Amino acid sequence: KLSERLLNVASFLPQGSNFADIGSDHAYLPCYVCQNDQTARAIAGEVNEGPFSSAQDTVEKYQLNHLIDVRLGNGLSVLKHDEVEQVVIAGMGGSLIRSILEEGKDKLSKVELIIAQPNVDEKNVRHWLTLHDYEIQDEVILEENGHTYEIIVGKKGTDKINHLTEKDLLFGPILGKEKNELFCEKWTSEKEKLIRVINQMKNAKIQDELKISHFEKQLAWIEEVLG
Ligand code: SAM
Repeated sequence: KLSERLLNVASFLPQGSNFADIGSDHAYLPCYVCQNDQTARAIAGEVNEGPFSSAQDTVEKYQLNHLIDVRLGNGLSVLKHDEVEQVVIAGMGGSLIRSILEEGKDKLSKVELIIAQPNVDEKNVRHWLTLHDYEIQDEVILEENGHTYEIIVGKKGTDKINHLTEKDLLFGPILGKEKNELFCEKWTSEKEKLIRVINQMKNAKIQDELKISHFEKQLAWIEEVLG
């Protein structure tokens, strides 16, 4: 059975999607999608040999070779131009997701939907999407096995420009408005971590005033959003 996290990611793909799952590992996500929707097509990309061969095995096992193409390579380089309409990048850090998007942006001309699930540093992903005309149309926060995950869905904008503030990038334009229970738990724990870091920095022999004030600003934002 697919994890709650990946089920949630999959729920944002439209019927008949033609998508790439970059960093697919076992290819569980494309296999689930294509098994449930025979009109869907997927490319599973993997940069590492081990996961690449696991992906091939899963696709073989479910006899989905006619719907899923497993490719070995870095990021979006496994794609030809105009090959897919949706891209999923899940289960990595936000800065890695951002650099995959940035390095492969010439492959995104036909991509209308980017579904990203960063494990940390979500703001990097939001920032990249906003700079490249992808409007954040959905955001989800969920908990699984003691971890909190965020899913960010960017839709290629027509002429609507995203005006996101630094705070929107940090908290999420949608999650930061909803402020559900999990969001508050996450930011309460981030707040506690930040207080510890600031105290440690203040007690250190060499103090980095600039960094301290950056963290203090962030702490004030968190206190403000938590109300
Ligand atoms: N996407 C799956 C998920 O969300 O469960 C797997 C996540 S797994 C933690 C991250 C995968 O990304 C690993 O299999 C790793 O080999 C792959 N990966 C890391 N950097 C990559 C890159 N630049 N291009 C393609 N795959 C990459």
